[in-house]
Amino acid sequence: MSGHSRRQRSGEQIVFGPMVQRLDPLANDPLASAPPAFSDEAARQVLQDGFGLTGSLTALAGERDQNFRVDAADGQRFLFKISNPADTLPILDMQTAALRHIEQVAPDLPVMRTLPGVSGEPWTKVSGPDGRTYPVRLFTFLPGRVTPNALLTTEAIRALGLTSARLGRALRGFFHPAADYEILWDVTHLPKLRPLLAHVSGAARRAQVERVVDRFEDRVVPVLPSLRAQVIHADLSLDNLLLSDDLQVSGIIDFGDMTHAALVCDLAVSIADVLHGRDDAVAAAEVMIAGYTSVTPLDDEEASLLADLVAARLATEITVTAWRRGLYPGNAAYSASGEPGARDFLDRIEAAGPDTVTARFREACRGLPYRSAASGLLLERRRRALPRSPLFYDRPVHLVRGEGAWLFDPAGRRYLDCYNNVAVVGHGHPRVVRAVAEQQRLLATHSRYLHEAIVELAERLTGTLPPALDAVFVVNSGSEANDLAWRIARAATGHSGAVVTSFAYHGLTEATQALSPEEWAAGERPAHVATVPGPDGYRGAYRREQEGWAEMYAAQVDVAAVELGDRGVAAMFVDPACTAEGILAPPPGYLREAARRIRDLGGLLIADEVQAGHGRSGSHLWSFHPSGIKPDIVVMGKPMGNGFPVAALVARSELLGAVPEETELFSTYGGNPVACAAALAVLSVIEDEGLIQNAAEVGSYLRAGLVELQRRHPLIGDVRGTGLLLGVELVEDPQSRRPAPGRAREVTEAMRDHGILLGTTGPAGNVLKIRPPLVFRHEQAGLLLNVLGEVLAVTRG
Ligand code: PMP
Repeated sequence: MSGHSRRQRSGEQIVFGPMVQRLDPLANDPLASAPPAFSDEAARQVLQDGFGLTGSLTALAGERDQNFRVDAADGQRFLFKISNPADTLPILDMQTAALRHIEQVAPDLPVMRTLPGVSGEPWTKVSGPDGRTYPVRLFTFLPGRVTPNALLTTEAIRALGLTSARLGRALRGFFHPAADYEILWDVTHLPKLRPLLAHVSGAARRAQVERVVDRFEDRVVPVLPSLRAQVIHADLSLDNLLLSDDLQVSGIIDFGDMTHAALVCDLAVSIADVLHGRDDAVAAAEVMIAGYTSVTPLDDEEASLLADLVAARLATEITVTAWRRGLYPGNAAYSASGEPGARDFLDRIEAAGPDTVTARFREACRGLPYRSAASGLLLERRRRALPRSPLFYDRPVHLVRGEGAWLFDPAGRRYLDCYNNVAVVGHGHPRVVRAVAEQQRLLATHSRYLHEAIVELAERLTGTLPPALDAVFVVNSGSEANDLAWRIARAATGHSGAVVTSFAYHGLTEATQALSPEEWAAGERPAHVATVPGPDGYRGAYRREQEGWAEMYAAQVDVAAVELGDRGVAAMFVDPACTAEGILAPPPGYLREAARRIRDLGGLLIADEVQAGHGRSGSHLWSFHPSGIKPDIVVMGKPMGNGFPVAALVARSELLGAVPEETELFSTYGGNPVACAAALAVLSVIEDEGLIQNAAEVGSYLRAGLVELQRRHPLIGDVRGTGLLLGVELVEDPQSRRPAPGRAREVTEAMRDHGILLGTTGPAGNVLKIRPPLVFRHEQAGLLLNVLGEVLAVTRG
């Protein structure tokens, strides 16, 4: 805005830093320093003397400088500028140097080129009719015109954001000693405007601006020094962006406010100054942000301050205009400013809520692709297009984003995710995200080429397992891993029968669905699968009170083997936590005894760690570990890539000899470098962030809280599990232990309404399933307990 009317006047009590003594912006007030007033004839003479150029001159608008378009005889056009004497030479030099820098690093950006005078210098100085000395410069002429913002299309708004980012990029490596130029319009100086707030008329308006300043001091000031900073244009308003008839940016002009400041301020100023006064300002801002971030992604800190910086620019506009209007009541420039638009935009931000706008801008910075569909319509479309695809809750939760243990819906409402073992290290963990993105950029192919990641992953995995488990297969899902494990087991043993617990889940494929009684249709019972009762010490045939109860359940393996008859037992598949069974979490003796008996029967013990693995149990990476057994095959999946599809099985290599040579064990995407990068990052995060320990600590705190709730609520019959895999069994009454699945459903629905996501499990569906990401913190566990306490109090029945 330097080219116009916005400099301060000396004598006000606004205090700037020490450099201001050198580059005093107060002295630059255009109203204190009259613009040049050369006659056309005098200007023509200066042009000829200084630049050896003749042509016809057309005066152009310019409040502070005198500008002419020069039409030379050969048809070339130039901009001839006689600057205000208040512009100091360091500032002119910085502008010249910046334009040259841009020309060098981004030649296609439409900025003016400085043309040398006859002396070879980029400017000359001439004496004016009033005896003052004026710097004079000649530039190439940029086509286009100043366009009202009402005419901007979505595409044009996007292009403006993109241009702002490209200009920031072009200036990234630019430095000049005058870049510490302080100017009131620099949004980062907002708090210095406090003394001027009294000039804002209307108590409500003044209070609004004060709120912006307060929020700025709270949220922006502490973070500003840590943001990326460089020389920025600092005034990318529509006055300074010339557009062609088809709304392309044809000129970026007026580098007079250029200063060293946080990079994100350029975008904030563009949003505020380009979009103010538009009915759709907030939504249009998201478009501009998308344009900007398509060139320069913003850091999280920058993204979360953007709305406050926009508000700061609007507040600056309102305050300075009010102040100036008081100083110069007769000056039309102040009444004709963009200030009504600024007030309107600020009202819109307030009406939507600054936090909501902050969240919207932050999400726009992330460039989230799927966030605009209305939930109701989306649900209809989903039910039509994916009729058999299950959804949780009566009112399904529509999610667009996750962070740590939190999930967010399109309106920015957050839900505490207490159910998700996929995002084991927390939603959107930056290390995993970076690993995936970088690897995807570098190389994403199948595993039939030599690549380090799959080898490193295999070595890392075997390093966490008993030494005999030395052969790794990386696949894409738990089902696929179990399916392959089943094939290996049959080949290795020559047997064809399987043993599983009576409500187990091991997968979706035909082979693994057969191993998943939870999914059997009514009356379905594959002949090659025998079940053993889940080791339920609460309501089953053997209870925890009995000595050796878990081993008694394990002894059922022999009964199952009899049932399988001649087929023989190829394998028993066990989820060590018995999650689908209702998170039975049997003691180590169960697995020990089951493994012993299965081996005696000539079968393999396959530990399905898809649910309980990756540190969830709070003691080791793999939940079979405390039992001391050495499984023949370990299967892992779900959390393995923190949301990126990857699964694996690790077997004893001698088992593989029985798989026919001509059968290739290969899956196209299995072990691709991106999946392996994700899996490796997950393992590193679990280790580096001490997540197993966290699962133990937060898990035992949570468990103790649940036991406490059990004391107060007879609806809770049992609390069990270890680490961050906990089950809360709901019963009609503690004596009968009759399952209360209806109540479990009510509780999960009510918890969802309170912003907490839980699931249910178990044969009767009466067990609350608590299985949050392992980054779950004590406060979050506390919140879960409080809300569950409240919900139980009202569902007391
Ligand atoms: N095993 C267990 C214990 C599981 O819980 C699951 C998934 N719930 C699977 C296997 C199947 O994994 P996926 O859905 O990745 O195929």
